Amino acid sequence: MCGIIAYIGARDALPILLEGLKRLEYRGYDSAGVATLDAGGLNVARTVGRVHDLVPKVSDGSRFSGTLGIAHTRWATHGGVTEDNAHPQRSDQSEGGVVTIVHNGIIENHATIKKWLEGKGHEFRSETDTEVLAHLIGEFYEGDLEQAVQAALKEVTGAYAIAAISAREPDCLVVARKGSPLIVGIGSDEFVVASDSSAIVAHTRQAFSLDDYTVARITPGDIRTTTLENVVVTPQVQELEFDLGQIELGGYDHYMIKEIFEQPEALRRCTQGRLDLRDGRIVLGGISEFVRELSTASRFVFVGQGTALHACMVGKYLLEKIANIPATVEFASEFRYRNPIVEPGTVVVAISQSGETADTLAALEEAKQKGGLTLGLVNVVGSSIARKTDAGIYLRVGPEIGVASTKAFLGQVLVSVMLAGFVGRCRFFSQEQLKSLMLALDSLPEKVERILSQSEEIREATARYIDRENWLFLGRGINYPVALEGALKLKEISYIHAEGMPAAEMKHGPIALIDQGMPTVFVATRNSQYRKVLSNIEEVRSRGGHVIAVATEGDTEIESLCQEVFWVPDVNEALQPILTSVPLQLLAYHAAVMRGKDVDKPRNLAKSVTVE
Ligand code: GLU
Repeated sequence: MCGIIAYIGARDALPILLEGLKRLEYRGYDSAGVATLDAGGLNVARTVGRVHDLVPKVSDGSRFSGTLGIAHTRWATHGGVTEDNAHPQRSDQSEGGVVTIVHNGIIENHATIKKWLEGKGHEFRSETDTEVLAHLIGEFYEGDLEQAVQAALKEVTGAYAIAAISAREPDCLVVARKGSPLIVGIGSDEFVVASDSSAIVAHTRQAFSLDDYTVARITPGDIRTTTLENVVVTPQVQELEFDLGQIELGGYDHYMIKEIFEQPEALRRCTQGRLDLRDGRIVLGGISEFVRELSTASRFVFVGQGTALHACMVGKYLLEKIANIPATVEFASEFRYRNPIVEPGTVVVAISQSGETADTLAALEEAKQKGGLTLGLVNVVGSSIARKTDAGIYLRVGPEIGVASTKAFLGQVLVSVMLAGFVGRCRFFSQEQLKSLMLALDSLPEKVERILSQSEEIREATARYIDRENWLFLGRGINYPVALEGALKLKEISYIHAEGMPAAEMKHGPIALIDQGMPTVFVATRNSQYRKVLSNIEEVRSRGGHVIAVATEGDTEIESLCQEVFWVPDVNEALQPILTSVPLQLLAYHAAVMRGKDVDKPRNLAKSVTVE
């Protein structure tokens, strides 16, 4: 949620900041801004809209020269989307400002601090919590930016990643973090600091993730990292593993469709080295130390939000079915703010693409405090969840840029299957059962390729319903979360109203919505619930609804009942969500394109929700 980038070194900061902002734009894109410092002082430009709207405002190259700068692409939390509320925010109105900052996160006690500052004569120009923080740093500033940032951050609650500069210290950049991600890239005599590594890798591979409650004071040739109490800490510098090609469009129109088509390869990478078919073992180094705790656990609790929550629902089903352990699913945001029962023997599994989802992180902290064993199933290596959990499994599906999650969902489900197989094998799941599950896992990439080859047919079918404003998505058992995910995909990128629910629930109310031609999507593969789903299809047909089914290849019976069928190859029931979700991703994608929506940057959304 929001991207920040800062540069200090020998090169012109502006092009590096703009290029970085474009890479970070998927994190937030309602407004953008930049500030650079040179001998002539501070220059600031801000705009409502995208990074490309900022470019004309800084095209007077001479004004925005300077080798130190900060920039921001916003996802508003406090204050409307206006130029005044865009970042950078300054501490006062004086020429150049005393302190100028960019911020990702929420300062929760901003109202109290603002009142206190107003009592001291501060005047505010924006509605943001960020401006309050800028003023607070300004209030403590006595010529030492590092010291002022440390002092101010001791007073705030909430989440932040900030980059601060002051015209009075033209060779100094100060950055800090608590809760929101921030990575410091170390080049030769230069530093690039950003919300994620996509904005850093073009400049350097040496980097470290700033820890919570730490501040870094950076000059062109030096860096000093301290706690808020000014105790020096030594960060762990690591090599960033990142292939720039993975974050380019590479001939596709959108990241979303690129990532949908990358799924066979993503699945291969996810299982690589983890399926020992010869010995019938699943090899998961990240959790192997905890075999005893996992196999004797009294229950598993899955926590996530959005698409990851749907993966959690599949995970619950798998843990119960394969490992025979009680499992529940919780919205991470709800889990945190009541009295969740976590005892020794409870395993809390957090699922998140970015590994930075604020609600999920907060739920984990609660679970840890109560003595549960915590696992993280995340994509981004070294992310906060990866670092804070006791153990975990990386998705390894590569960077996901499209705001609507696709390949990460498949990775989350796949990793949940491997987790369930790993734990199940230590309990009652036989070697034969595990081997057959692993063979099925191994066959998935080729099966997904077969589904992708129907993209054009799915586009044509979607076109027939493109003017409908209400859709239903129905499924049962392990395909119920897929129905939820299908509805979410359609909503988030095409703004069509869609509801997902268990197919049997329909007749307890929502069936009243069915009218002539209403598109009703059934996930209706051949499995233990198949006959029941067929009955639900009949109920919709008799009321005039149009049925779009995701069905198993060769199922002639269902073909005769439906207006449209999207085919998926037959597979072990436990793995069906990995296949059945793919046609629904394509449906949502084609619907959004046909409706002329900005697929990769849907309105009001942002990737990686780092605020609660
Ligand atoms: N809370 C700040 C604002 O609304 C920062 C939001 C963000 O992370 O983009 O401006």
